[in-house]
Amino acid sequence: MEHSRDCVKYVIVTGGVLSGLGKGISTSSIGVLLKSKGLKVCPVKIDPYLNVDAGTMNPYQHGEVFVLDDGSEVDLDLGNYERFLDVNLTGDHNITTGKVYRAVIEKERRGDYLGRTVQIIPHVTDEIKTQLQAVGEKERADIVLVEVGGTVGDIEGMPFLEAVRQLAQEIGKDNLLFVHTTLVPIMGAVGEQKTKPTQQSVRELRSMGIQPNVIIARGEHSLEPDIKKKIAFFTDVPVEGIISAPDASTIYDVPLLFDGQGLTEYILKTLRLKPKDEDMQEWKAFLENLKNPDKEVTIALVGKYTHLKDSYISHIEAFHHAGAAARVHVKLKWVESVDLEKHGTKLLEGADGILVPGGFGDRGIEGKIAATRYAAEHDVPFQGVCLGFQLATVGFARDVLGLKGANSSEFDPKTPQPVVDLLPEQRSVKGMGATMRLGAHEIDVDPNSTTAKLYGATTIYERHRHRYEINPAYIPKLEDAGLRYVGRSDDGRRMEVLELKGHPYFVASQFHPELRSRPLRPSPIHLGLVRAAAR
Ligand code: GLN
Repeated sequence: MEHSRDCVKYVIVTGGVLSGLGKGISTSSIGVLLKSKGLKVCPVKIDPYLNVDAGTMNPYQHGEVFVLDDGSEVDLDLGNYERFLDVNLTGDHNITTGKVYRAVIEKERRGDYLGRTVQIIPHVTDEIKTQLQAVGEKERADIVLVEVGGTVGDIEGMPFLEAVRQLAQEIGKDNLLFVHTTLVPIMGAVGEQKTKPTQQSVRELRSMGIQPNVIIARGEHSLEPDIKKKIAFFTDVPVEGIISAPDASTIYDVPLLFDGQGLTEYILKTLRLKPKDEDMQEWKAFLENLKNPDKEVTIALVGKYTHLKDSYISHIEAFHHAGAAARVHVKLKWVESVDLEKHGTKLLEGADGILVPGGFGDRGIEGKIAATRYAAEHDVPFQGVCLGFQLATVGFARDVLGLKGANSSEFDPKTPQPVVDLLPEQRSVKGMGATMRLGAHEIDVDPNSTTAKLYGATTIYERHRHRYEINPAYIPKLEDAGLRYVGRSDDGRRMEVLELKGHPYFVASQFHPELRSRPLRPSPIHLGLVRAAAR
């Protein structure tokens, strides 16, 4: 069958054995390979938790909360999809149990199921299929690429697996392909690769009526040929469908690693798709730059969730993108902000640049302020993001304007000098879900600023997630003393970017430039920091 638009195809990625195997990277990589064949790929992440979205969870739960242009607060895997596929997604691309149940219950209350008993099968599973189909149709996708979060066997994931099983039955095996990701650990002195966990997790998947077409086996090393055969034998997957996913030096290697084992061809063949010309040239050029830096810089990332690196995944990736563009290897030095409070700023010594990222809550605030002060006083290249932008203002108000007790009213509601204050439109907000100032907004940039040079533009769009802002009442005084607010939105009343006069590189933004950073289009402010740090 020749592929046509009226027949959307599906690739469904499930996970086995344990979490944290890089299923999101495997999914993104498959997306890159399909895209390279001229196919329009529509990635969707399923999160089987009851939260409607990721916005109300702290980063220790599932890592960073990613924000899309439309303001949706979503799982960090959507960030991976955006970066790998160079697309801008919407909230429809993240389906949660909360969203599905909410839709079903709303329909029930409206009377859509009048007279009937509403059940997980068929009503919840139908809703899941409807949401998957709707996003694929809206995007006019050739392939809907679905990553099912969690591990096969989790109770929460069952309705989703059942829904995709039904979908496979309905649209037929030429139109839907299952990819199962597993772990092949190495045991014992001889370093034998063990296939039992894979066998068992495939058995579990088959007990749900799903026969995988592809197995992606994570492990330290590549699978031995006879191990591939053994897995194929036990799982009924052809040997070409057994793909090795050894530890890679960078996640951006993974698409090529899969392609090298014939995965692209195998998927196209199984789904009866006619391949078009391969176009991986830019990707390869990016990898080349990433892997051959001329220089190394150390950037201190002063955060409060530094024990879970996934909390800052978009910054880590933005530095990879910026590093490749500048041909600089960026070494991140993780500094817990409370440690700066305990041990002082000597922890920042030797850093070529400092980043104070976003955050919520008052733990470690004074440490972050100390980091902004250290950067300002020692001419160390500095970038602040969201909370980092707000705290750079607080530090400056205290140190340069001499405003004792200056603070954000988020941390000190009774501060005599609320230089950072609640957004006016937030005062009446009661609920916590999806109620911040979110998503992409237009920002006017002063043509006579570093920021305008970095972006090569005076109108920019960046993503936001905040409840507080710089109090406009303080702007004249702050600017007179040398803190320039060179980016503004909403007719100039909302501060978006600041630069410190006379400093080699001190740029902070209310928005999150890391969220729109892409391998070939790095965040301009991260790139500026890397370049300044390398000078
Ligand atoms: N907590 C601050 C606010 O709500 C900063 C938010 C952030 O850094 N994302 O405005």
